[in-house]
Amino acid sequence: MIIKEYFKESKLNCRCGCGLPPQLTIIFIVYSLRITLRVPIYIISGARCLRHNKAEGGGESSLHLPLKDRKNDHGATEDTGALDIVIHSVAKHRHYEYDLIKTAPHLGVTGIGIKNNKMAHIDNGNGTNRPAIWTY
Ligand SMILES: [Zn+2]
Repeated sequence: MIIKEYFKESKLNCRCGCGLPPQLTIIFIVYSLRITLRVPIYIISGARCLRHNKAEGGGESSLHLPLKDRKNDHGATEDTGALDIVIHSVAKHRHYEYDLIKTAPHLGVTGIGIKNNKMAHIDNGNGTNRPAIWTY
């Protein structure tokens, strides 16, 4: 991994300890997001191997999985991935959802899931099920 300034490999890689890294593009995307939003971003879930994805309750076609392990790739290409993140906004009058939705598509994000407690899913899926924004 070449980016160590903001994100630790241990947070980006599969949490089961198998060492599976995310696709490179989603790493560059979250790095760009960190630089653009200028607030800390914490990685809650990065790459997932099949076993760990199952343990996390992830979908069988989750973009956290490597392409070859997705049940349905929706026509996406190899260099697609996903991260679950928490954005800590220092400006209390602004909501992170707005900043994320406004900024992320310009940085290559094509899938945005907004969850409560400031958590969000971002991905760069490029299959027939993208672009998309949802809540969960
Ligand atoms: Zn794993």
